[in-house]
Amino acid sequence: MVQKIIRLPVEVINKIAAGEVVENPASIVKELIENSLDAGASQIDIAIEKGGCQLIQVEDNGCGMGPEDAVLSLERHATSKIRTEEDLGRLATMGFRGEALAAVSAVSRFCLKTSNGEVGTHIEGLTILPCARNRGTTVIVRDLFFNVPARKKFLKSPSANGAALVRTVESLALAHPEIGFSLKIDGKTQLQVFAEERRKRIEALLEPMPLEAEKGGVWGLFAAPEEAKIHRKGQYVFVNRRAIFSPLIARAVKMGYGTRIESHAYPSFVLFLDLSSELVDVNVHPQKKEVRFSDEGKIFRMVERAVASSFEKTAPSFSRTLSFPQVPFSFAAEQTSVLPQFDQASLAFSEGVAERPLAVVEGYFFLQAEELLLIDLRAARARVLYESLKEKKEPAQSLLWPIELEAEEEGIVEELERLGIECRWIGKKTLVIDALPSLLDPEDFPLFLSAWQEGKKLELASRRYALGSRKKWSVEEAFLLWRQLLKCPDTLYDPGGRRIWDKIDAGRLKKILEEA
Ligand code: ADP
Ligand code: MG
Repeated sequence: MVQKIIRLPVEVINKIAAGEVVENPASIVKELIENSLDAGASQIDIAIEKGGCQLIQVEDNGCGMGPEDAVLSLERHATSKIRTEEDLGRLATMGFRGEALAAVSAVSRFCLKTSNGEVGTHIEGLTILPCARNRGTTVIVRDLFFNVPARKKFLKSPSANGAALVRTVESLALAHPEIGFSLKIDGKTQLQVFAEERRKRIEALLEPMPLEAEKGGVWGLFAAPEEAKIHRKGQYVFVNRRAIFSPLIARAVKMGYGTRIESHAYPSFVLFLDLSSELVDVNVHPQKKEVRFSDEGKIFRMVERAVASSFEKTAPSFSRTLSFPQVPFSFAAEQTSVLPQFDQASLAFSEGVAERPLAVVEGYFFLQAEELLLIDLRAARARVLYESLKEKKEPAQSLLWPIELEAEEEGIVEELERLGIECRWIGKKTLVIDALPSLLDPEDFPLFLSAWQEGKKLELASRRYALGSRKKWSVEEAFLLWRQLLKCPDTLYDPGGRRIWDKIDAGRLKKILEEA
């Protein structure tokens, strides 16, 4: 009988293992920067091309490696960071598994240049050569997954990867203000910071955060409640200087804001927790984004109290509550919020009825108010967009990846700028969009532009955009859109006369079943 089982060759094992370590370009950048930090670097320079799929380069001035170590560093389970099992219990470095370089070099065209200050070594493919280099290390990763087509197919778009990458570098730069960082994307400097103190670093990288909290092991800066967003991108949490993802802490911060913030908005903040090892185990998740707290309730209260205390110290303008009525606590726990109530005849509002967002089904949103409401999210979006662009209400936000589109008309730049869209010409036919109001998604913007060019009518462009967009709505986003809609002069119809919402009473429900 033919034997069926074989031992996999080492290259295959490495490729398989690589899949676990190398999720995407951002995870590679994270591993490489962490290696530089472990090497004691004071300056780390990163360069990216095509969202990291074409090039990732990380250069540092750390301790570097001699030739033997350089060769070993690319093998699996080769590490200088632990020697024995006991070392696992007293980790001081970011890495220790000895897998990152092996994995990355297995799935890319890989190059390592390193010097310990005495000998320089250049490794590329199977060649190992001496080279001249100051103390430090450069890792160059080209053509990611060129030899794993199945993985390459699943890489996200360069712009999505690029955004994740910037976030990763920002996070590491926030956690290590004593170190200089630079990040170049497609040749353009995207970020450059020099050694500085923690608060200065936050100011250099993020939006203004006027509130401060310091209590026990908690230190953080927080944006004003008015600046809350519909997404969590403005939230950074570090536990013992490691960026982590923690819904628990995000919730605790929000509780700390109390009723100053609407229930479906997210405050921006940077929070550092210094916790003893009894309170936290950071090595649960292989990518170390999640942590395990031994006493979640204690952490929650610590954070909530620290945030709440920041309002006591700050100027009164930040401690005022928003003008909508206070949310009774029992409602808040059930994710409801108190909202204006519709008067059916006049569509006037009267304050004080709780509304509970229920569900999103495709482009429709169910909301429990006095009665059940059915809301067409696309129509609602068209109305909100129309009002907001008409009044140029929202400041444009610059795009990480400017969009290039074909256009021909002369005056279009001025027209779009009047709507709060920042753009310019390259040559005679290409329009570059640099900044958009956040209600316009870059991916769907071409819909808006083509409709605009067709009729020069904001009504038309807003509708086409909202109807054509493939946006997937979360309940939170839907609810926030509803709140924005309530501020519009006409809440019932979109700019093209399409009905936005209606009440669903028992009669309507009965009919649905009878017709089924
Ligand atoms: P780990 O960081 O888990 O040890 P890696 O595969 O990331 O595993 O790195 C393997 C080894 O290579 C490290 O233990 C370290 O000794 C060395 N190394 C990697 N990157 C650098 C660097 N930038 N500077 C100096 N040494 C490095
Ligand atoms: Mg490492």
